[in-house]
Amino acid sequence: MRPIQMVDTKTQYLAIKDEVDAAINGVLDSAAYINGKPVQEFASALSSYLGVKHTIPCANGTDALQIAMMALGLQPGDEVITPSFTYIATTEVVALLRLKPVFVEVDPKTFCMDPESLRKAITPKTKAIVPVHLYGHAAPMEPIMQIAEEFGLYVIEDNAQAIGCNYTFSDGTVKKTGSIGHIGATSFYPSKNLGAYGDGGAIFTNDDALAHKLKMIANHGQQKRYYHELVGCNSRLDSIQAAILNCKLKRLDRYNQARKEVAAFYNKAFEPVAQITTPFVAPYSDHVYHQYTILLNDADRDGLSSYLAEHKVPSMIYYPVPGHRQPMFDSFGLEKREMPTTDWLTERVISLPVHTEMESAQLEYIVTSVKNYLKA
Ligand SMILES: *Cc1c(COP(=O)(O)O)cnc(C)c1O
Repeated sequence: MRPIQMVDTKTQYLAIKDEVDAAINGVLDSAAYINGKPVQEFASALSSYLGVKHTIPCANGTDALQIAMMALGLQPGDEVITPSFTYIATTEVVALLRLKPVFVEVDPKTFCMDPESLRKAITPKTKAIVPVHLYGHAAPMEPIMQIAEEFGLYVIEDNAQAIGCNYTFSDGTVKKTGSIGHIGATSFYPSKNLGAYGDGGAIFTNDDALAHKLKMIANHGQQKRYYHELVGCNSRLDSIQAAILNCKLKRLDRYNQARKEVAAFYNKAFEPVAQITTPFVAPYSDHVYHQYTILLNDADRDGLSSYLAEHKVPSMIYYPVPGHRQPMFDSFGLEKREMPTTDWLTERVISLPVHTEMESAQLEYIVTSVKNYLKA
């Protein structure tokens, strides 16, 4: 049995090594390290995959979110509603742009933005909503888009953890997450479902005017070189990363399928265990299991995670401190919000290894170790 890791990017690489090495060598030969052909190829392949009109590649997922917010012309003090239960990048960029992050609760079953909590948080200063498709499960986009339309708000989807996830609307229409809001943002950090071998990110939109603006902002606010119409930044996906991503995008559905199979194995094994709530999948959502995150009921989480570590099974807490408790937001005049659901989840979640290269023996071993500790 190979050592167990949260993600195993090395084994995944070895399986496609020849193709990836050739792709990288192609870039080295071309010497077009920046904005080479693979970047354009990747952007258009990803647009077709997601069913979205424009894909703007950029340097990482955090930049993707930041550029999205910059393109909406928000003013300092404008309110942006995000879940508190997310990775810091989602909320950090709001604060960085001197916008005001407004945290809302998530649904305790899906871990994604709760539309009722969202509705209650809207004020005349609210300008945008950033739902996060956490762990690979879609946020409830249909009600979120309805609320956005009702109040004239923008929606930026944080799709960093859910690329490839399908969302089914009540009329039966199916769309990929990231293609539903006004703008979608994603990350190609190596451990993401579609991971590069370095940093990378992308922004999606169906709106031509927004696409134009997003492209300019990612490129120093210029359309014509050295003529800067907007305040922008420098955020590029390099050609080597794009070449690698071209090899991996073709396999994304298979990779997500492998994750689903890992989750199915865990679900079956943990179903009879009273102390474990396995991940819920809402009828409107697919689940691409960026993380396999369980809830512990009446069990010692630290005890379990130390026991697993002693038995060489890694586990992680995503995330130990929710946004509304992060000192970085202290200066934003956030009224002390009570977020009981988020706090409750924060104390109970634990994520187990899930990736595309897991062996049955590893899965058996992880399940047995968890059950041994819980005496289940
Ligand atoms: C990874 C991630 C990001 C940021 O992506 P980077 O490429 O690391 O900047 C943003 N939001 C969520 C939910 C993420 O998981």
